[in-house]
Amino acid sequence: MAKYFGTNGVRGRFDELTPELTLRLSQAIGGYFKGGKIVVARDCRLTGEALRSAVVAGLSSVGCETIDLGMVSSPTAEYITRRLAADGCIIISASHNPPEWNALKVVDGKGIAVSREKGEDIEKLIEKPGLVRWDKIGKIRIYETGTAEHIEAIKKLAAADKIAKRKPKIVIDCGNGAASVIAPRLLKELGCEIISLNSHPDGRFPGRPSEPTEANVKELIALVKSSGADAGVAWDGDGDRVIFVDEKGAYVIGDKVYALSIIWKAAGKKLKYDVVTTVATSKAVEDVAARYGAKVRYTAIGAPYLCEEIAKKSAAMGGEEVGGVIWPELSMAKDGFMTVAKLAEALCEKPLSKWLEEVPEYFNVKLKIEADEKSKKEIVERVLAHAKNKKLDCVTIDGVRINLKDSWVICRPSGTEPYVRIFAEAKNAGEAKRLAEEYQRIALGK
Ligand code: MG
Repeated sequence: MAKYFGTNGVRGRFDELTPELTLRLSQAIGGYFKGGKIVVARDCRLTGEALRSAVVAGLSSVGCETIDLGMVSSPTAEYITRRLAADGCIIISASHNPPEWNALKVVDGKGIAVSREKGEDIEKLIEKPGLVRWDKIGKIRIYETGTAEHIEAIKKLAAADKIAKRKPKIVIDCGNGAASVIAPRLLKELGCEIISLNSHPDGRFPGRPSEPTEANVKELIALVKSSGADAGVAWDGDGDRVIFVDEKGAYVIGDKVYALSIIWKAAGKKLKYDVVTTVATSKAVEDVAARYGAKVRYTAIGAPYLCEEIAKKSAAMGGEEVGGVIWPELSMAKDGFMTVAKLAEALCEKPLSKWLEEVPEYFNVKLKIEADEKSKKEIVERVLAHAKNKKLDCVTIDGVRINLKDSWVICRPSGTEPYVRIFAEAKNAGEAKRLAEEYQRIALGK
């Protein structure tokens, strides 16, 4: 079991992820990438600069060439890693966590985030850092055009001329996070009319918490309504995830952002490849994919698993329930800016509320059962035995997901907390509740 690496890198408060630990981990990461060319980026958190210094020192001391992008969004760093054919990338960002947190997200040369399992291999190198001789120390290169290059690449993939003509009015809420360094510029260059909120970088996140939940973006919702904008958008702290607000002020959850992205990608034609998503994503995604002739391939929860699956076998796109969408034509990373560029393009055709009519409506209910490690296992086995007994269609990649006709339910042990979560989704609220309660009973063996 990895000591420091979680499902998405190494995460902690400043007294846990200290500059000392960051230095040692970065040496180990440099060793893992065998002294290659590593891209380094950070978001706007106050501890970012101190940790960046430790990362750069660690990498160069084991002979890696470091390409320092400075303060950029995570999708920018991942795009540049692929563009420069670098061997890997370290992003200093705790995504949506509160401001006192930070993290090291490690991405390999293919653009795939390093999972907990691979993190274990990295940790084995901590004790033998492999310092190079003084004259073999790695070069440190400052690279200032990352954001500009990322914007150019997105503009090529969105119908910029169409957008410039229609000039959709979009309220952007960057949450004072890394989106602030790219989103206003991108949308302006695309020709959108923008109204910005919390769109200057500030590592204290004074405007709102960095997770763009409905409760956290109330100001955005109000501004969309009062300004008569076509839509509102809000990113998480590092800009890989995004949620929408339609022109009437309705909050659009992450599942629907992904379903809409599939519709926009298909553009009325059949999709050539499958669609990848996690086992916790709404059936709306499967329904929409089926409309364009695409099958859904499910993965465990966590972005690294999505990327790995897309890398294994081509996919039209990947996405997760919290508004992260991977556009493989651009990069292997969730890219909240590419998603918004596609939104801007779609708004030229019809209002967002009209687009949403194309996404099937589902209702969900979440329950949890307290359980220690041993009973977590027993609970999941009990649900699996029930599903097998009843010959139900089940997916066992991460907990047990049971697909029923117009509904589904998942029973999944939490990786970090003493709970097993039961999550049910159905065509109406009553059925979702009934299903969640039924599986809670089955899980408890009642
Ligand atoms: Mg994020």
